[in-house]
Amino acid sequence: MPENGELHLHPLIDHGIRAGAPGFAGGTLTCLCERDQVKVQVESNVAHNHACGCTKCWKPEGAVFSVVAVVPRDKLRVTAHAEKLEVVDPAAAIQRHACRSCGVHLFGRIENQAHPFYGLDFIHPELFAEHGAAAPEFAAFVSSVIESGVKPDRMPAIRARLKQIGLEPYDCLSPPLMDAIATHQAKRMGTLAA
Ligand SMILES: [Zn+2]
Ligand SMILES: [Zn+2]
Repeated sequence: MPENGELHLHPLIDHGIRAGAPGFAGGTLTCLCERDQVKVQVESNVAHNHACGCTKCWKPEGAVFSVVAVVPRDKLRVTAHAEKLEVVDPAAAIQRHACRSCGVHLFGRIENQAHPFYGLDFIHPELFAEHGAAAPEFAAFVSSVIESGVKPDRMPAIRARLKQIGLEPYDCLSPPLMDAIATHQAKRMGTLAA
């Protein structure tokens, strides 16, 4: 991001949020290769779509944030060129399956069954060939963009812009998702009845 230039948060949100289509039921995620694209079929709308400032999510060129959402893992399957996929970091909680040619992350999968989000795959809805996926709802891990090189003094402007677009900025996940994680842990520990 240029030091004093215009803010490019992400192409999907820079010009405001485009509403999703009510009956959207999934589509095809395609990587950015010019040929032999990896294709992933998703038979579901997305949930918890959000802008993410973490350093692990895949972002398009020049974007400060990623846009990422979840779908049920049993609704997602690779339909073309699975041989091009590799896991970016096998030690990470979310195994991000990326195209080794173009670098796009097609989906992130959690293999630890005790993880609060086990059963959900993380995807980038901008890779859908079809329009209509549920729109982004909030911005997560906003402060983390500093770790990707954004100057700290730009943060007030970034948070103001996110609010203006309608994405409440959080420095972790949104309160409902943080509550879901804590509820999962409390049930695991027996603090809360399962
Ligand atoms: Zn590719
Ligand atoms: Zn992220």
